[in-house]
Amino acid sequence: MTDDTPVLEIRGLHKSYGDLEVIKGVDITAKRGDVVSLIGSSGSGKSTLLRCCNLLEDSQQGDILFKGEPITWSGSGIARQPADAKQVLRIRTNLSMVFQQFNLWSHMTILQNVMEAPLTVLKRDRDEVEKSARKYLDQVGIGDKCDVYPAQLSGGQQQRAAIARALCMEPEALLFDEPTSALDPELEQEVVKVIKDLAKEGRTMLIVTHDMRMAADVSDHIVFLHKGLIEEEGCPDEIFGNTRSERLRAFLSSTR
Ligand code: ADP
Ligand code: MG
Repeated sequence: MTDDTPVLEIRGLHKSYGDLEVIKGVDITAKRGDVVSLIGSSGSGKSTLLRCCNLLEDSQQGDILFKGEPITWSGSGIARQPADAKQVLRIRTNLSMVFQQFNLWSHMTILQNVMEAPLTVLKRDRDEVEKSARKYLDQVGIGDKCDVYPAQLSGGQQQRAAIARALCMEPEALLFDEPTSALDPELEQEVVKVIKDLAKEGRTMLIVTHDMRMAADVSDHIVFLHKGLIEEEGCPDEIFGNTRSERLRAFLSSTR
């Protein structure tokens, strides 16, 4: 891979649930250090697209390339599946996902939550994993919460723990699915700040968000999805300052 090989490239992706086609031929490229935001109405296919990227969902057509390496498939159409389990694991651990609902393990402390996958999935050395887990918990501002359980934290703190957990996988890119939408407005901002800091650090990120201010602040590129197709895309200035599509205009005014 050369330096300008994209971390993630999606070409002509199609995805159906039964007879319902929800992704209808989408191309997305994220180069190293790019922050790409996906916006669009509820049901437009944002979560599905994100989940297809790290193979949490199958897709029926199109290519997914991770650092220039194409996913190998077996079968075709509705029967298409990734053919290589090791490749799936490599891609899933390298495109680490942060969900709307945090998904922390309630019976584990925060530190254990962050350490679990690097230990069990990646089989890394325990002392090193603990060191980096503490470092990432510090980075997201909850270094003092290592020994408490998720239920003892606010939503914003839980989401920051989930971000530390994703970082502790040392992924090539982070995928966020509406990371702030389960949070009260005053807690939203503490998570937004963490995401802004990650963007400044040069992290490669794909962010599904309804937070247009954050999208404007952090994104290199914004993709507006409408019914499974890219209706418009561009840099924040183009999307917010020079909106072309009537649908995007209507969507943006509905979010204000
Ligand atoms: P968004 O994240 O933009 O709100 P989704 O990707 O969740 O949209 O959903 C896109 C479409 O796919 C919607 O019509 C939704 O009802 C449908 N869908 C999502 N997940 C499933 C599923 N597991 N089974 C069937 N249909 C689904
Ligand atoms: Mg969604």
